[in-house]
Amino acid sequence: MESENKTANTYAKGLPERPDHIMRLPVDGRGYPVPYFASYFDGKPDFRVIDRDKVIATATGKCCTICGGPLNGEAYFAVGPKALILTCATDGPSHKDCIEYAIRTCPFILNPNARARRSGLPEHPAIREQAIPERPPIYGVVSVRGDVKIDNSHITILCSWDQADYRFSKDGKWIEPAEARPFIETAIGELQAEIENGPRPPAIPEEKFESWKAACKTDIKTRAERLLAQIGP
Ligand SMILES: [Zn+2]
Repeated sequence: MESENKTANTYAKGLPERPDHIMRLPVDGRGYPVPYFASYFDGKPDFRVIDRDKVIATATGKCCTICGGPLNGEAYFAVGPKALILTCATDGPSHKDCIEYAIRTCPFILNPNARARRSGLPEHPAIREQAIPERPPIYGVVSVRGDVKIDNSHITILCSWDQADYRFSKDGKWIEPAEARPFIETAIGELQAEIENGPRPPAIPEEKFESWKAACKTDIKTRAERLLAQIGP
């Protein structure tokens, strides 16, 4: 196996042309640019393991999670239907050209059969805690205006999508909002089932659990309807 420590790995043939922001990133042994958010173990990047400190730093410091460069007012996110409804993201903000490059390049995004692989992860205590995200059936690329808030307890980035623009992609190809709608509608039921079948949060007393679940499910429906109205027919 090639060492990642070599300074001059070659960019892989067949990958899309790199925008300027991506040109500044190092290239790994396979020829893929190493995103800024990747964690390093023994000098080698593992793209599956997001460096949470970097994500928090990019969100608060307004720099790009993918290339690490200053955002200058841009803030794009690529998230699945559930995260769109909940207006949250686990990655930080990115440049438009960086996120569009990732949509066209990342094997996990491109391949419909890709599964988050936990095998072969580096031995590191922090990794056991970290969920490897499931691959969403579509991605919404959201351009967010306004501030990004961070919930440090869950290391989740919370944004208002109210003032957002949307574009959708499936398996690396752009699709129309009408094609995205059924996936969002399916996600409503999945999120509501997660609430119904999920554990009671410690902060919710037993006697209020049922009414809490009902309120959450209503909130999910309200958010989803607002999102569907925003993206149009
Ligand atoms: Zn960037």
